[in-house]
Amino acid sequence: MSAQILDGKAIALALRESIRQTVEQKVAEGQRPPGLAVIMVGEDPASAVYVRNKKLACEKAGFLDVSEVLAEDTTQEALLSRIDELNARDDVHGIIVQLPVPDHIDPETIIERIAPHKDVDGFHPYNMGRLATRMPVLAPCTPHGVMTMLEKTGLPLRGLNAVIVGASNIVGVPMALELLNARATVTVCHSATKDLEQKVRDAELVVVGVGRPNMIPGHWIKSGAIVIDVGINRLDDGSLCGDVEFETAKANASWITPVPGGVGPMTIATLLQNTLKAAYGD
Ligand code: NDP
Repeated sequence: MSAQILDGKAIALALRESIRQTVEQKVAEGQRPPGLAVIMVGEDPASAVYVRNKKLACEKAGFLDVSEVLAEDTTQEALLSRIDELNARDDVHGIIVQLPVPDHIDPETIIERIAPHKDVDGFHPYNMGRLATRMPVLAPCTPHGVMTMLEKTGLPLRGLNAVIVGASNIVGVPMALELLNARATVTVCHSATKDLEQKVRDAELVVVGVGRPNMIPGHWIKSGAIVIDVGINRLDDGSLCGDVEFETAKANASWITPVPGGVGPMTIATLLQNTLKAAYGD
């Protein structure tokens, strides 16, 4: 068997085009465009690339872009005040603070200050809680983008044995909640998990988000399994690779996401989708 490629780039482009059309129509009807504020503190080069991509996507979709870069030495108090101002603005529907923030700023305090209905990253405990209680409003973008991709396979998730490798607040944990809500049977693995190999070998769906190049050997993948690789790793030669050995996994899987061009583009498209929802409702 050789897996079909789950083409995140193409799925994301189609989603972004449908968002652009909705915005065009709403604006023609006299409504405001969705407004997204992306705040970056300091000049972390990797974050700068993400922020630039978000800004471009925002502009192409017809959103109001309120991105700003604050100085590295911005105090936590000043950042909180800026969030308060954005919370109060009628033309700003989504607010995100690009992580990581400098060490003198506590990310949890920042996330909790964003009004939950403007928390388009979906990281606020309110939005995580809504997802955990099966009443999602604004769900974290990367796992929700994965759900959109899984829908495209047409395969039922109900009852599927799903194994998630990685248990962070932005990837593994909300991914587990999404899959549980879709009635999959979910196992979440992390750095203290025993016998990871056997768990992956038993999985009909594997989602990996750890950040270690090629840590899941392709021969661990069960025949016919779906493989979602969230990992993005830059190698010494400058190229990108995922957390799963792609070629060997592809030989066993039924569907697989490439890196790059898989989950990554879906994260930004889902951020726009969340902002559209924050602006106009469902
Ligand atoms: P974190 O470092 O926050 O979390 C990594 C997780 O992997 C932790 O839960 C950790 O376990 C677990 N882990 C570490 N080592 C092992 C191991 N040997 N076996 C099993 N689990 C292990 O990373 P993120 O969640 O932020 O990101 C993970 C990857 O996903 C990165 O490559 C990142 O670049 C990528 N990413 C991609 C996105 C996209 O849009 N495609 C978006 C976000 C992230 P423990 O909890 O025990 O520490």
